[in-house]
Amino acid sequence: MPRPILATVHTGALRHNLQVARERAPDARVWAVVKANAYGHGIERAFEGLRGADGFALIDLDEAQRVRALDWRGPILLLEGVFEPRDLELCSRLNLWHAVHCSEQIDWLAAHKTQQPHKVFLKLNSGMNRLGFTPAAYRAAWARLNALPQVDEIGHMTHFSDADGARGIAHQVALFEQATDDLPGERTLANSAAILRHARGPLRGASCVAADWVREGIALYGSAPDYPEHSAAHWGLEPTMTLRTRVIGVQQLQPGDTVGYGSTFTATAPMRIGVIACGYADGYPRHAPGGTPVLVNGQRSTTVGRVSMDMITVDLTAQPEAGIGSEVVLWGRAANGARLPVDEIAHAAGTIAYELLCAVAPRVRFEVD
Ligand SMILES: *Cc1c(COP(=O)(O)O)cnc(C)c1O
Repeated sequence: MPRPILATVHTGALRHNLQVARERAPDARVWAVVKANAYGHGIERAFEGLRGADGFALIDLDEAQRVRALDWRGPILLLEGVFEPRDLELCSRLNLWHAVHCSEQIDWLAAHKTQQPHKVFLKLNSGMNRLGFTPAAYRAAWARLNALPQVDEIGHMTHFSDADGARGIAHQVALFEQATDDLPGERTLANSAAILRHARGPLRGASCVAADWVREGIALYGSAPDYPEHSAAHWGLEPTMTLRTRVIGVQQLQPGDTVGYGSTFTATAPMRIGVIACGYADGYPRHAPGGTPVLVNGQRSTTVGRVSMDMITVDLTAQPEAGIGSEVVLWGRAANGARLPVDEIAHAAGTIAYELLCAVAPRVRFEVD
């Protein structure tokens, strides 16, 4: 029998979460962001749930090829554009749209002998200061692109640094509007946090989700981008991945007994401990402290002591019926329907759900439901 750890991708939940975005941004088309192998879900496994999107946005040419191999004929956008001139060849062949964020990428296009004119999104650096042209350089970049026979259509994009937090997006939206004001072309601004938090309210008319396209990643995968301020349940999002395993050992502790490496936990009363087949080599965060929630047979319990490479210890004291073979959900949903949002585990471990979902290890088997 294989080791009992298993990750399940929930097709219905992906479909549902996409619908949530549609309701919040009813006038926009939705790029389903499937970079990083669909945030760890697997592009091929997530595709059925996301095929209702208007396009797929990603980073790797290799992933673009995989989406085309699924027979997707619609738009695909390379969010960081090409990394070297010869990538443009594949962009032509696969009919990819690509971001243009630096003048070198324009040089490469100008030198490219293309069959098919390219559709690009020119990227404005509106304050994130990662990729993109500054507002001062934006128009000149647009004019250069516009003069190239290799370029057919030029859209406009920018990316928010604080859509999930107190600073918000208004300052970046204003810069974007100034820079792109009278230029033709489609617009795309919003990530998940902007779609959820800024779709309604005073900015709506002129704002990010009234643009032509929104770019939705993490919310498709059932995580609240602004956790713990809001939960996935608050936004009506469903978990799209369940990581589950089973109890493979049980220990009875007496007061004074310790558990695991470093003896970081000491029992103060008699306790029953379950040992489960999941560890940091499966992608569970080693930094999750004792007390991090798990679902044992669909009921909440907690981890005890340190996470090891292949095992975690959990408290079974309140569940005398649980034993070898009992189901333990690390995140997602249990057989009885109980939910354990991945955001809770990420928060306990001092990180974000993006990282946990992307880090499920290759040795974990996957299934799709
Ligand atoms: C990853 C990414 C997104 C999606 O972000 P989420 O926070 O996951 O919704 C949108 N736009 C760009 C440019 C990205 O790189």
